[in-house]
Amino acid sequence: MATKTQNQLHVFFFPFMAQGHLIPAIEMAKLFALRGQRSTIITTPYFTPFLTKSLEKNRNLHTPVDILTIKIPSSEAGFPKGIESLDMAPTPQVQGKFFEASGLFEPQIDELLELYRPDCLVADIFFPWATDVAAKYGIPRLIFHGSSNFAMCCNLSVFRSKPYKHVSSEYEPFIIPNLPDKIEFTASRVADFIKEDSETETDHFTKMYKVMKEVELRSYGILVNSFYELEPAYADHYPKVIQGIKTWQIGPLFLYDKGLNLEEHECLKWLHCKKPNSVVYVSFGSVANFNDEQLMEIATGLEASGQQFIWVVRREKKEGVSEEWLPEGFEERMEGKGVIVRGWAPQIPILEHEAIGGFLTHCGWNSTLESICAGVPMVTWPVSAEQFCNEKLVSEILRVGIEVGAKKWKVLVGDFVKRDAIERAVTRLMKGDEAEEMRSRVKELADKARNAILDGGSSVLDLDALFHDLKNASATRKE
Ligand code: UDP
Repeated sequence: MATKTQNQLHVFFFPFMAQGHLIPAIEMAKLFALRGQRSTIITTPYFTPFLTKSLEKNRNLHTPVDILTIKIPSSEAGFPKGIESLDMAPTPQVQGKFFEASGLFEPQIDELLELYRPDCLVADIFFPWATDVAAKYGIPRLIFHGSSNFAMCCNLSVFRSKPYKHVSSEYEPFIIPNLPDKIEFTASRVADFIKEDSETETDHFTKMYKVMKEVELRSYGILVNSFYELEPAYADHYPKVIQGIKTWQIGPLFLYDKGLNLEEHECLKWLHCKKPNSVVYVSFGSVANFNDEQLMEIATGLEASGQQFIWVVRREKKEGVSEEWLPEGFEERMEGKGVIVRGWAPQIPILEHEAIGGFLTHCGWNSTLESICAGVPMVTWPVSAEQFCNEKLVSEILRVGIEVGAKKWKVLVGDFVKRDAIERAVTRLMKGDEAEEMRSRVKELADKARNAILDGGSSVLDLDALFHDLKNASATRKE
């Protein structure tokens, strides 16, 4: 590992083992390096090739980003060997175990901190113990949350005031208390881990949420992958009213330095022949995994909408085996009109392609931000995590999306949505005045995002302020 120069910070990044957390953490480490600091990412061997490939794209970094590897404690955590990432957990039970395992990394991180003594540890929200380990060595711990300010405000407000307990049914609306806007929600949309009396498999997670929020108050602050102009009321509200912790709005992280595009995926070539705003992109992130019945409903709804599409499905194609989740003859009928991508798609270049006119999304925060920055309006189909909050931000506050009608928080498979609802929402997204209005609103936000990451922009100013604070903290420690 290269040594740091004077006046340079050495920052450790420890992301949670899930694409939605790892990707922005890599961007953050690159950004710190791009702006002259030393960055080291700690991860497991499974993610190292992904990380190396992602770093190779950015050869213009001032200093290289270092990687340190640690072991995943699968046997201690009681889940099968080979589950290395959240998306590999086949059931909510195994997912719960995966979260539990996040408590078991502490000794390995302790050792690394003792050995390298960085100036700061940026650890994922799912590692609440990291604050105390860092404190042992006098190192400030920053939390990487990975979600919007809006979702952080909604979740903590619901967790504290429990409005879902004062309604007669899970679908009876209530207003989330103590927010700048009047936001209607229902108990069915509240995440299991927010409901304190939850007796589901996520019960461990409920306790963890409580601990995470207590630890926040003892941490140095939160790094938010958002930009001030996107959700100003909530960027102010969380530190000033909800939680009393410092936050830095330093995003959108992926926008700073995209690096070289080393290969072009087939679906991008397909898009080159399409007219502007004529294709809808359909993807539900790296964790949600719909069942056959739901996939069939999506296929039928897309076909009925008459819109061209790129649809990412987390299913491999097995030669000679008929696919129960596709209507008979679907791929033949859709030839030239729609493309199914199996597994992983290059989401950012797809969204940025001028042919893409809308995004049917599960509202993961990275996907939401990527869509906004590409100036693409959305159909919102939240599944779990904090996605129902992001849906409200998109559809009601920013007014750049249409709700498909998913009503219930459900890990992996989500609430069942019928084909007619999909057809209606996709048609509204792609055609007519409402679509045009949303498109022009989201393009304004995309411009603001691009300005935020320029020199003198709000995110760069926040980042510089953070470096300044950390350097002062480091100098004070050494006095
Ligand atoms: N992603 C991608 N290709 C895919 C699926 C996902 O590049 O086929 C990326 C996407 O661009 C985003 C991240 O994976 O950066 C998913 O994060 P998000 O917060 O949207 O959802 P999660 O996967 O955490 O549910």
